[in-house]
Amino acid sequence: MHIELLAYTRPNPALNPAELSGVGDLATIWNGQSTYQENIIEYAGRVCYRSTHRMGTAPGFISARVREGHEDIIEHIVITLRIRGSDDPLRWRMLNRHCEVTQDVDGSWIVSGNTRVWLDFLRRGIATEALSVLYAIAPNVYTEYADRAESISVEPITPESIVDLSILHPAEWEGMRVTLLGYTQPMLTDTESRTHHGSATFLFEGISRACTHQLVRHRLASFSQESQRYVDLSKGGWGAIVPPAVAEHPEAKARLDEAWDYLQETYRELRDMGIRKEDARFLLPNAAETRIVTTMNFAAWSHFLWLRAVDKAAQWEIRAMGQRVLEMLYGIAPDVFAEHWRVYVEEFDGGA
Ligand SMILES: Cc1cc2nc3c(=O)[nH]c(=O)nc-3n(C[C@H](O)[C@H](O)[C@H](O)COP(=O)(O)OP(=O)(O)OC[C@H]3O[C@@H](n4cnc5c(N)ncnc54)[C@H](O)[C@@H]3O)c2cc1C
Repeated sequence: MHIELLAYTRPNPALNPAELSGVGDLATIWNGQSTYQENIIEYAGRVCYRSTHRMGTAPGFISARVREGHEDIIEHIVITLRIRGSDDPLRWRMLNRHCEVTQDVDGSWIVSGNTRVWLDFLRRGIATEALSVLYAIAPNVYTEYADRAESISVEPITPESIVDLSILHPAEWEGMRVTLLGYTQPMLTDTESRTHHGSATFLFEGISRACTHQLVRHRLASFSQESQRYVDLSKGGWGAIVPPAVAEHPEAKARLDEAWDYLQETYRELRDMGIRKEDARFLLPNAAETRIVTTMNFAAWSHFLWLRAVDKAAQWEIRAMGQRVLEMLYGIAPDVFAEHWRVYVEEFDGGA
C-alpha cells in the first residue's frame, strides 16, 4: 500500500494573532504549544471548559481528553490521504462510516477522515501505514502509538490563492461572531470529490442555546460546545441573547430582563445551597448565550446552508449565522457553493 498526504486542515490565512488581539479570545489559539492543528483541538476543548486563557499551559491536555473519552475535540482536524495499491479503504469505510472514501480517475482511493477516525483505524490495527503522517500532524492525539511512529516532517499544504482575504475575517452581526478557524480543500479535479473531501471548522460566538440546539440537529458534523455542566455562572456568567423583535418592544424587553435577572439570582441561590452546576443549569433558558466549534465537510455544510441560510423558513438567528458561513465558504470554494450563492444573492440581496 502506498500512502500520499493530499491535504489536512490548515489555518484560515486571514487570521493572524496581531490583528486578533481585541477579537474575543481568538488570539489565544497561538498560545498553544503544538502544531496549529493541535492548537485548534486544544482551543475547542478549552471552549467547552471556558479555559482558553490557559491555552498552552498543560502539555498533556489533548492526550488527557482522549484518555477520558472526551474525543469530540479531535474531530475538528481532517486529513486526506491518497491510497494506491490496495482496496482496503472500502473496508475501512464499512468499519467507520465517518470517513469519506472515493475513487479517483487513476483508480487510487481518496480517504478523508478526522483525527478521531484515523485513531479508530489505528486502534483496529488498520491503516497503520499512515501512522507517521498522522503523528506528524497531531502527535498528542496519537501518543499511544508514539513508539511506533517514525519522525517525519510533513510538507505544509500550499493554499490556493484567495483573491480577497477580507472575506475570511471574523464576521460580526448583532453581537454574533462567526470565525473560520481552518479548512481543508484537497486539489481534486471534480467538484463532487471536492465537496466530499473539503471541510471547514467554524467558531460561533454570541449565539443562543436556541440557535445551537438547531445547529446540533445536523448529524453529519462535529461539535465542541461550552459546557453548562462544568462552567459556573461565577466564571463570568452567560449573557442573554435578545431577539430583535423583543429588543424593539420596550415592554417585552423589560419582561425578558426581569425574568433573566430572576433566573440568574435563583441560579446563585441554588449554588449557595450546594446544588451542583449540572443541576443548577436546569434554570437556564434558551436565551442563554453560548459558543461552539463546528466542523463539517462541504457536503454537510451544503445541506446545512440549503436549510438554514438560504431558506426563508429558517429561524432568524441560525439564518444570520448560516449566511456568514456561506459568505466565507463561497470565498474558499466558489464552485461547490455556487448554487447557494445564487439563491442568496437573488432572494436575500446577498445579505445587503
Ligand atoms: C424550517 C425547519 C423547521 C424544523 N422544525 C422541526 C420541528 O418542529 N421538530 C424537529 O424535531 N425538528 C425540526 N427541524 C429539524 C429537521 O427536521 C432536521 O432534524 C434538521 O434540520 C437536520 O437536518 P437533516 O435531518 O436533513 O440532516 P442532517 O442531520 O444534517 O444530515 C444530513 C443528511 O444525512 C442523511 N441522514 C443523516 N442521518 C440520517 C439517518 N439517521 N437516517 C437517514 N438519513 C440520514 C439525510 O439525507 C440528511 O439530509 C426543522 C428544520 C427546519 C429547517
